Amino acid sequence: MLKQRTIKEAVEIEGVGLQTGRKVRLKLKGSPANSGINFIRVDLPNKPLLNIQSIDFGNVNKERRTTLGLGPMEIQTTEHLLAALSGLSIDNIIIETDNIELPGLDGSAKSYVEALKKAGIIDQDAPKKILNIDKPVWCKDKDSLLAIFPDDNFSISYALSYENPNLGAQFFSVILDERNFEEKIAPARTFCLEEDALELLKRGLGKGANYENTLVIGKSGPIKNTLRFTNEPVRHKILDLIGDLYILGMPIKGRVVAIKSGHKLNMELVKQLKQSKE
Ligand SMILES: [Zn+2]
Repeated sequence: MLKQRTIKEAVEIEGVGLQTGRKVRLKLKGSPANSGINFIRVDLPNKPLLNIQSIDFGNVNKERRTTLGLGPMEIQTTEHLLAALSGLSIDNIIIETDNIELPGLDGSAKSYVEALKKAGIIDQDAPKKILNIDKPVWCKDKDSLLAIFPDDNFSISYALSYENPNLGAQFFSVILDERNFEEKIAPARTFCLEEDALELLKRGLGKGANYENTLVIGKSGPIKNTLRFTNEPVRHKILDLIGDLYILGMPIKGRVVAIKSGHKLNMELVKQLKQSKE
């Protein structure tokens, strides 16, 4: 029987939000079995707490990042940290944050994984809750599709396809055990097309982005940067999807197939899975 997990020591992470450019400090702390994943905005009056399983999907904003909100409280760009928690199989944790957006760090989940491992991951005396997929569930939006099928493993197969020849089509498929996550997915960084970079800045996004933490894809590959994997962008899309699926607050046993899926569709699937569970 798999057990629930948390972290042993508290650990701090500092950085800048990718979209807002705001400085932020996180403190990650262990928490008791069955307490789940809890965010606390320590910069707001009364330090409001957001339990991930109580998310109101009406308050989820999906523009280039996942924003979880509850009343006046908001937490932006949760996907990379949540992916690290999912990848390392952590069920219970407190995440104190002193600003609205989680740090972007190097644009991947690598530093989150390192920090969590440094804190020490420990088993707890309670069985892990797992969402077993017992029938296919899918959703689509224009030419994007996201489906999940019953299976013995948690796996993701993802196809992305851009009109722009600099990015083109990429495919990757992975069974998500801890090692595969750490080696093949966690280091993949966020990306955008060169032509979109300026447009994003104009819309007030990407204020904390730079050529190091974001692969800006131009004619001859990433500008002022080198790829960690030849298909780093599709691996990052899988990273985002893992993080978004972890809003369910528990691991999934099922095979995910995604075609050009983004935060909006990811959240639609989470919503459907949550409804079917209830
Ligand atoms: Zn991302």
